[in-house]
Amino acid sequence: MGFKRMMAGKHHLKIAPFCLMSLLFASLVLPSAAFSQVINRKLPKAGFPVLTRVTSLQDLPSSNGVHLTPGLDRNPRQQVERYDPGEPELKGGLVRWEDRKMPILIWISPGLMLADCPFNEIQATRVDYVTGLLQDPNGLGELKVAPMWTPEVGDQVAAGIEQWREFENEGLFRFAFTDDPHNANVCVFFCGAFRDSSAPGGINIGGLTSAQVYPLQQALSMKIKQKPVIIELSTQINHSPERMIGASAHEFGHALGIKAHSPYREDIMYVDRVVNELSPADKATIRWLYRQTPQYVM
Ligand SMILES: [Zn+2]
Repeated sequence: MGFKRMMAGKHHLKIAPFCLMSLLFASLVLPSAAFSQVINRKLPKAGFPVLTRVTSLQDLPSSNGVHLTPGLDRNPRQQVERYDPGEPELKGGLVRWEDRKMPILIWISPGLMLADCPFNEIQATRVDYVTGLLQDPNGLGELKVAPMWTPEVGDQVAAGIEQWREFENEGLFRFAFTDDPHNANVCVFFCGAFRDSSAPGGINIGGLTSAQVYPLQQALSMKIKQKPVIIELSTQINHSPERMIGASAHEFGHALGIKAHSPYREDIMYVDRVVNELSPADKATIRWLYRQTPQYVM
């Protein structure tokens, strides 16, 4: 999630992607998904905004009397050193996708907004909620479109995700966009603002990723379809193309398995993200992660 803090003195809000190792797999019965067509998503060809890197504190958004978390300064000689991607809720255990899941199929909804939910409950309930929606033939049809969403927003989300494409050439992972949510490994939804997140003195949440992870050995013996990773992006916080692209790249980093935030503000996975592009350290981190045997998989 990328968010900016609006309250001084509240130094750390730990919101790691929710992880649930449920043993109630027998209760999970998904309909056999219709044949899913993998599509090449049409990306904007020209006039795409130049991604800019924020290089000074003056460029940061601010409000009276409060400051954003400054983050750590990285030694220039350590620009390409990775940070720790392990899941804080699982004692730093590594999480990533298995080779057999490739390509990771991503469905970007046409602006659909999930039911309102208090922010502190989202990550505990989202995956099962969406799984239920997908089992209901009319489930998605009842969702409204998020305010301020336009089809261009979908292209911006795709552009953010595309920042991770270069690793396909290195054999780390593959992904593709699908038009069938029933077959998707990652589903992207939208909202205007996360409830309870824009109150005075509160925090503004730009995006959120909810995932269920499984111990590797358990996953290897599973016969049923695993539940999708859910990304939600705020159209209100990410009100410019650059912000939506950056937020999308950040949340897809979580979806790929970078579960912890970088302590360095130059990185896309910094908690109060101020850049919109992957940094050398982000790249070093994903390369390292996909060369490890993970303790957990999605
Ligand atoms: Zn995050």
